Amino acid sequence: MDAAAADLYPPSRLDAARRAAADAGLDALLLGPGADLRYLTGYPALSTERLTLLVVPADGEATLIVPRLERPAAEAGNAVGVRIVDHDDGTDPYPLVAQAAPGARTVGLSNRMWAEQVLGLRDALPDARQRLAGDVLSGLRIRKSPAEVAALRRAGAAIDAVHERMGEWLRPGRTEQEVAADIAAAMRGTGHVTVDFVIVGSGPNGASPHHGASDRVIGPGDPVVVDIGGSMADGYRSDCTRTYVAGGAPPDDFLAYYDVLEQAQRAAVAAVRPGTSGAEVDAVARDIIAAAGYGPRFLHRTGHGIGLDGHEEPYVVAGSTDPLQAGMAFSIEPGIYVEGRHGARIEDIVVCADDGVERLNTLPTGLVVLS
Ligand code: ZN
Ligand code: ZN
Repeated sequence: MDAAAADLYPPSRLDAARRAAADAGLDALLLGPGADLRYLTGYPALSTERLTLLVVPADGEATLIVPRLERPAAEAGNAVGVRIVDHDDGTDPYPLVAQAAPGARTVGLSNRMWAEQVLGLRDALPDARQRLAGDVLSGLRIRKSPAEVAALRRAGAAIDAVHERMGEWLRPGRTEQEVAADIAAAMRGTGHVTVDFVIVGSGPNGASPHHGASDRVIGPGDPVVVDIGGSMADGYRSDCTRTYVAGGAPPDDFLAYYDVLEQAQRAAVAAVRPGTSGAEVDAVARDIIAAAGYGPRFLHRTGHGIGLDGHEEPYVVAGSTDPLQAGMAFSIEPGIYVEGRHGARIEDIVVCADDGVERLNTLPTGLVVLS
């Protein structure tokens, strides 16, 4: 294991997970491919119909069960040196689970496991009660270590570098898809190994927060919401939104709310500090937008946690009353959407610091008019 991997994926996490599992009354964690498995081992397992499973008994040695053909990848990616057991195609891998967690009566399954594997594990451990592992693991993952914050900072700088070049691609006369293809290529050029989403929402498409990119031709003066994110080689993710105006004067009814949105986003970022809650931060942004008469047009939560998953705890939303703590990383991304016309969103990833907040996306938030 190299030093950077040891920093980002320390072996001590397995002990922390064992303790947390025991405290929660779980005899074993059963984790399929995804962020939980990677968080504990460093291994970016493929999610396929073949069984890959990290078995972590609350009291015993962890075992990584992998398809035989993925053994080399598992050995290379397994930063913490967990014991690996493989299975051949055509054989039943599920008895390996019972061997790795003997006598388990209550097991925690990763929240995003495939149903066919959940049911396979039920048959393999017929006496074991199944619960969600996320309740245990989110408590560990929610506060980022300094190495994780540094990884998120690198991801933020990488996506900022793409936004900085938007004027090269975003012009009237091009389609959203053409612009999105250029953005995706640039993201790979800045170190992203996956491009998870490229939203280019021009004109009326900007009013649909999760639009994607269509064959619509961008017109002069169109507001364009560009929300882009992916993962870096170390597994940590980027996510950043800016709203642009492509070549020309934007509509007056758009200009009327952009400044309100910017003020709301900045105020919400400034409200982040240890001890306040996600609900309070959400209210800061929502109150400013509502006071200006756009309350119903801000139709989603203010933000979501980010790390090895693009969306994870903590959520910046009404009802999220747990106090924020240093090391928590999440988005602040209010939006205003006018159906049939246009929309705007401004999104930065921030980390709650000991004495306030650090923005991991550092570009200005003002409206960028591209000529
Ligand atoms: Zn986003
Ligand atoms: Zn986001």
